Amino acid sequence: MSHQYSSQNLETLAIHAGNTADPLTGAVVPPIYQVSTYKQDGVGGLRGGYEYSRSANPTRTALEENLAALEGGRRGLAFASGLAAEDCLLRTLLEPGDHVVIPNDAYGGTFRLFAKVVARWGVEWSVADTSDPAQVRAALTDKTKLIWVETPSNPLLGITDIAALAEVARNSSARLVVDNTFASPYLQQPIALGADLVVHSLTKYMGGHSDVVGGALVAADAEVGEELAYHQNAMGAIAGPFDSWLVLRGIKTLPVRMDRHSENAGRVAEMLTRHPKVSEVLYPGLPDHPGHEVAAKQMKAFGGMVSFRVEGGEEAAVEVCNRARLFTLGESLGGVESLIEHPGRMTHASVAGSALEVPADLVRLSVGLEAIDDLLADLQQALGR
Ligand SMILES: *Cc1c(COP(=O)(O)O)cnc(C)c1O
Repeated sequence: MSHQYSSQNLETLAIHAGNTADPLTGAVVPPIYQVSTYKQDGVGGLRGGYEYSRSANPTRTALEENLAALEGGRRGLAFASGLAAEDCLLRTLLEPGDHVVIPNDAYGGTFRLFAKVVARWGVEWSVADTSDPAQVRAALTDKTKLIWVETPSNPLLGITDIAALAEVARNSSARLVVDNTFASPYLQQPIALGADLVVHSLTKYMGGHSDVVGGALVAADAEVGEELAYHQNAMGAIAGPFDSWLVLRGIKTLPVRMDRHSENAGRVAEMLTRHPKVSEVLYPGLPDHPGHEVAAKQMKAFGGMVSFRVEGGEEAAVEVCNRARLFTLGESLGGVESLIEHPGRMTHASVAGSALEVPADLVRLSVGLEAIDDLLADLQQALGR
């Protein structure tokens, strides 16, 4: 499943990989093949390998080829959601008795999948601060099959050195999985840095317009990719044709969107560091962020997510969220419109009481593509001058 373009440039691949002109009509955009089954030319006579749309659908194939090309992997697979993709990965690669290392800062739903679902099938997990390779090495057992990393992490914007952990994984029985949702392949290329697998919530920057839920896996190794594809079909949580089409459409502008998201977020972070009601700003683009150097090394820019802590504790943080007007109060991230939320009570309520609990005075921003002056003014009025 390789693409036919020799370009290594993300801007070109985003638009062209997987997007071959429709052989029937010449349509320059892959049609939405809203179809479940395919007429066969005699028993077993498939056209292009298509027999049933759970197994394969041309619109999904276009997206899957595009994803593999963008992440520099051998196989891309598209799912109904990011968590469906994660579930497929875990059930393909783990058996009862296996052990995984998970980060101390991660998307709440990922933690819930490990703690409440996968653990019931006899998979053990331990938590490590993945920004410290020594801690990850210390957490390994001879049963460890996966090291799971999210960088930048959600919601604390922690940075993990992907190349350093790839080295740790190479010297163990474990594979390195990177959730690349916050960075996107335009800003960060985990497979080139040594990761074995990349996970995405396509719902976020890849789709980019808050109009679709989807997920992806990209495997560096073709054989692992084949195993995942087998399980994708066997388990069935595929991306539908219209959802695939929406994500494919969104990806074409990913590079320009990520540039502007990063630029706007940098300006927002800088303003917040000077605001008297803000006690701490978490943004890897700030020179005093503990992961700044690693982020500068492995990312093209620092992305559109900014978190900050509010003087006055939980109530004050909730107040800021409630007062924001242009920043829409809502979960999710990565769309063109700016969002604000309180992780402790919203996206990360499921990690309360665990090692992944987030500070109660934390506010998370998904900085969108609106005029920067409007975004700054809204945050200033929400914080109170
Ligand atoms: C949203 C998100 C997920 C889960 O994806 P869904 O599409 O909501 O299932 C996983 N990882 C990260 C970092 C996310 O932000």
